[in-house]
Amino acid sequence: MTSVEQAPTDKSVLTYSALNTFRNCPRKYKHRYLDNLRPRERADALSFGSVIHSAIELWYRSIANGNRLSIVLDFIDQQFPLRAGDDAQKAMWHLARAMFTGYASCYPTEDFEIVEVEKLFTGEIRNPETGRPSQTFVMAGKVDGIVRRPDGMYLLEHKTASSIDASYLDKLWTDTQIALYSFQLRQLGYPIVGVIYNVLLKSRLKQKAGESEVEFESRRKELAAKNKSGRSTAKRQLPESDEDFQARLDEWYSRPEAFHREHIYLSEDRLAMLQDEVWEITQQYLDARRRGKWLLNTSNCFSYQRPCEFLPYCQSGFNPNVAENLYDITLPHEELTNADSDAPVF
Ligand code: SF4
Repeated sequence: MTSVEQAPTDKSVLTYSALNTFRNCPRKYKHRYLDNLRPRERADALSFGSVIHSAIELWYRSIANGNRLSIVLDFIDQQFPLRAGDDAQKAMWHLARAMFTGYASCYPTEDFEIVEVEKLFTGEIRNPETGRPSQTFVMAGKVDGIVRRPDGMYLLEHKTASSIDASYLDKLWTDTQIALYSFQLRQLGYPIVGVIYNVLLKSRLKQKAGESEVEFESRRKELAAKNKSGRSTAKRQLPESDEDFQARLDEWYSRPEAFHREHIYLSEDRLAMLQDEVWEITQQYLDARRRGKWLLNTSNCFSYQRPCEFLPYCQSGFNPNVAENLYDITLPHEELTNADSDAPVF
């Protein structure tokens, strides 16, 4: 593993998520990152994507271990301890095991060398005109991996997706976070030339539930009515066993289309433009903070096809009772858990 010099951390830490929140709605930024509000009724259901992310991390960290598939499958088993009695956990467990078994046989070897896995970094934000670092902020983030290929160093970014089509691939180009992180990592000594998106498809197969007694009886009667003898030899459909369902999923994941690698090269122009944008946003932030003005961007209240989590609070005119009833106070920047930076956050 390569070690790189970390930027000084006596400044406030800015993450991509904070930066993007401020750009989309300064008021939302204030709620989340200054007042530390977090909706209480958060879906804390186990995230399938995060289990797969951790499984892939373990896979690449155990690269020298001949038993690494068993290590990863054991890890997956541990993530779904309630699967025997919880259908949602069982469905995710089946899917994760089949996905990873398929991944291991699709990529038994790689055409890259692993340089870093789950790399946390902290880097300077620079004035694009003078090249001088911001006196107020550093940028922190985490990338899934850094790999080396004969033509240069790449970020390795894992994604799970329900389908991969042209618009999905086009959207990867708009992944500003990754482009920005590449820029930061370059400054820290990693000559990143592009991004490899490692996409794993989520199968839509479902375990067959079988027929209830009532469903079977009704189907049997229907068939019997159509039969001249007035009888039917139909048998009740039984639930699909775990073994049969896993075998069906394994077959689905044995197809090469279940996994996709997309290489995207980063242009110097785009990186320079990003540097400009980040600097401008930090200046707007400093201005908002100095003047105590956190504007509401109401055109953002229903983006992503769902209401903003702070909608009730904004609608209430920032009623403290609403804040107390609906939100917890939780420190932001959860994505940097285990970060080796002890800088204050802004
Ligand atoms: S509800 Fe609308 S105005 Fe309020 S924080 Fe969310 S996006 Fe901003």
